[in-house]
Amino acid sequence: MPYSPQVGSTVASLDTPSIIVDLDLMESNIAKLMNQLLPTGVNIRPHIKTTKSAILAQKLVAAGAKGGCVAKLSEAEVMCAKGFDDVLITCEIVGAAKVQRLVELFREFKRIRIVVDSEEGARAIDEAFEKSGLEEPIMTLIDLDVGLHRTGVQPGEPALKLARYVANLKHLNIIGLQGYEGHLQHIHGWDERKKRCLESMATLTQTAEALRNDGHDIKVVTTGGTGTAEFCVTVPGVTEVQPGSFLFMDTDYRNAIGSHYSNSLTILSTVISKQGPKTVTIDAGLKSLTTDSGLAECKTKGYVYGVLGDEHGSLTWEDEPALNVGDRVEMIQSHIDPTINLFDVYYAHRNGIVEEIWPVDARGKVQ
Ligand code: PLP
Ligand code: MN
Repeated sequence: MPYSPQVGSTVASLDTPSIIVDLDLMESNIAKLMNQLLPTGVNIRPHIKTTKSAILAQKLVAAGAKGGCVAKLSEAEVMCAKGFDDVLITCEIVGAAKVQRLVELFREFKRIRIVVDSEEGARAIDEAFEKSGLEEPIMTLIDLDVGLHRTGVQPGEPALKLARYVANLKHLNIIGLQGYEGHLQHIHGWDERKKRCLESMATLTQTAEALRNDGHDIKVVTTGGTGTAEFCVTVPGVTEVQPGSFLFMDTDYRNAIGSHYSNSLTILSTVISKQGPKTVTIDAGLKSLTTDSGLAECKTKGYVYGVLGDEHGSLTWEDEPALNVGDRVEMIQSHIDPTINLFDVYYAHRNGIVEEIWPVDARGKVQ
């Protein structure tokens, strides 16, 4: 029989490495975000790139969110197939294969929204829609560079020029502007993060105004992440924020913004070998814990993690109680999004009893 734990199992009985989610902490993270942001009247469109889960996207809508963001077209395909079709795809859709996939998706799901930052990109989508005989235009946002220098047209004349171009395309309907300030999310220090965020928001809202003055109907101005959403919602003209990581958090975010949101997700691991009086090897290496944002931490303080390869990690300590073969530890990931992408399922528990099991629906969907 294949291994398949059921609701009602104890966390203690789960095989490792496994993602476990403390439901009380996750629900408290959701409540904190909603209580802080919803009263401002700004829409919350959480970024599902973090969870890659349709069930979690629905839970956020039940808590007050309006739709969700996905990073990639292939994530949108999965979410739509699962019945969650109010999605903004926040990455540009470029290349014949991807554009054709967009055509096929839009045939069925008219609520999806896209972003564009180039005339070539917009034209290719328009031409593919024309060839396919699609009648209804797709909701389109102009993607603006507000300082991240990743994607987005430059503010000022380039943004105006692109919007004029897109406005003349039959199959793309401009509904708004996206400007994501990803470079500011992890700035340490509330004051500095706020100051820099408000500067980016000025660029975004001034551009929205300039586009309106040029005749465009800019209804949506979308931005923000876990580190900045609280500032973005205070800016007149911002209509929507896109936080994702707040649900589970990671050490990188905790180090930057503090513990307002809790680490509700951990990677459960087992000690599989003892390599010295103060060194053990656990079954979580690079294939369970990503290292792009630093090394994971053991939830029990005093045990220091090191990478021993794809499948192995070390824990070393000074004065803590000794760990031994068979012991289990919870590891806190340094960067939540790529870590979740390494697993098939989440085990969500309350007080050590598994209450829900969620598939990572869009796992590996990077196209
Ligand atoms: N919006 C966009 C366009 C993003 O790329 C991201 C994350 O990378 C987010 C929102 C969500 O940010 P976070 O997970 O930091 O809350
Ligand atoms: Mn991330």
